[in-house]
Amino acid sequence: MALKLYNTLYRKKQIFKPIKKTVGIYTCGPTVYFFSHIGNLRSYIFSDILNRVLEFNNFKTKQIINVTDVGHLTSDADQGEDKIEKAAKKEKKSTQQIANYYLNNFKQDLKKLNIKEPNIWAKATEHIKEQIELIKILEKKGFTYKTKDGIYFNTSKIKNYGELAKLDIKGLQAGKRIELKEKKNITDFSLWKFSEKPGIRQQEWNSPWGIGFPGWHIECSAMALKYLGDKIDIHTGGIDHIPTHHTNEIAQNQAATGKKVVNFWMHGAFLLSNGKKASKSTGGLFTLSELECNPLSFRYLTFLTHYRKSLNFSLKSLEKANNAYSKLKNIIQELKDDKKINKKYLNEFKNAINNDLDMPKALSILWNLIRDKKAQGKVRTIKEMEKVFALDLFNKKEISIPKNIKELTEKRKIARKNKNYKESDKLRDKIKKLGYIIEDTKKGQKIKKI
Ligand code: AMP
Ligand code: ZN
Repeated sequence: MALKLYNTLYRKKQIFKPIKKTVGIYTCGPTVYFFSHIGNLRSYIFSDILNRVLEFNNFKTKQIINVTDVGHLTSDADQGEDKIEKAAKKEKKSTQQIANYYLNNFKQDLKKLNIKEPNIWAKATEHIKEQIELIKILEKKGFTYKTKDGIYFNTSKIKNYGELAKLDIKGLQAGKRIELKEKKNITDFSLWKFSEKPGIRQQEWNSPWGIGFPGWHIECSAMALKYLGDKIDIHTGGIDHIPTHHTNEIAQNQAATGKKVVNFWMHGAFLLSNGKKASKSTGGLFTLSELECNPLSFRYLTFLTHYRKSLNFSLKSLEKANNAYSKLKNIIQELKDDKKINKKYLNEFKNAINNDLDMPKALSILWNLIRDKKAQGKVRTIKEMEKVFALDLFNKKEISIPKNIKELTEKRKIARKNKNYKESDKLRDKIKKLGYIIEDTKKGQKIKKI
């Protein structure tokens, strides 16, 4: 089955055809002013799966993830403080220290989740020249105007502005007249913001329009065009990017190049906590290190919900996923390699992932293969599937044992050392009741999930 991906632009699945040999993917990256939460990380598991599925289909990929280390204001609509400057003030650090610290933390999280690194990490502050050049082009072509606080993009000059989000432009204009201030249209957005008083912000640059800093949207257009050219296969992000950030990126691209630059716009749905949307700025969602389990159990959990559906996260659902994941790994450890491939299951798997990355289906096919007593070629087939799952299913060391079980086994070890066999048997029973079996081997205790 040919690879089909859901294109937000047309609200339908389309057969994916690459523009060139190498598939260009641009992924909107983190704003590095705080720890990423598991919602943010879900979004990057989605782009990782996309990347892996393309590779599974024998496409070569080139992925860029940008790093927003300037210009993202506390409100997406050009108002409020710069998130990085605000964090630097609060933590009494330099903006660079803040950005580097949280970026490194983010990279570590990606590693723990087996998310492949992109070919290029592109920092906004390292591409100021490119952003200024792009604004100059927009200015020359008549898409910009100046206000007291910056250079703005005139969205009324774009024919289909808001097409991606199916925005009701007239309704928006009428409803928000008071917020217009000096803007000509409510949807207009800043390309360059002037420093209120130069010398106070840590991050500001000279430009043809005055000292200041770039708006949030221009960085992604500038860096995507630089690294992937003016025909890009896929652009990804979260659904929150649809109405503003990506809508504005499209406007900038179209104005600058006269072309539709991106073929496929793809968006991951949110991870919700108790049914509520949570963001990095309001807190409320766990970070990866706060989850007391193997990070790959979280990766497994995200596969249970299709990337375009909201995922209702709870610790209970994580525990369930953790148990299922341990069970899966334990079963796989025991399989014997018959050096065959099971074409039927592998085909089913490929059909699932090629149907707009249907990971819930792909996972159920894996379980069906495992449970199928007559099936041959389990090991080699699962190894193929692992190229997409990347769950370390064959990595013996990483079996995830809950903290309480580990503590009980430690206690049992001590009891045995003290020849207190009554106590050690009692602990073994307790552990068994909690779903784990202990085997005493020459190398010590071996724990297995029942
Ligand atoms: P940020 O660092 O806030 O710019 O966000 C990084 C990425 O996480 C973006 O792609 C957002 O769309 C995405 N994101 C933010 N909150 C959530 C959430 N609760 N669930 C899923 N993705 C999210
Ligand atoms: Zn972006």
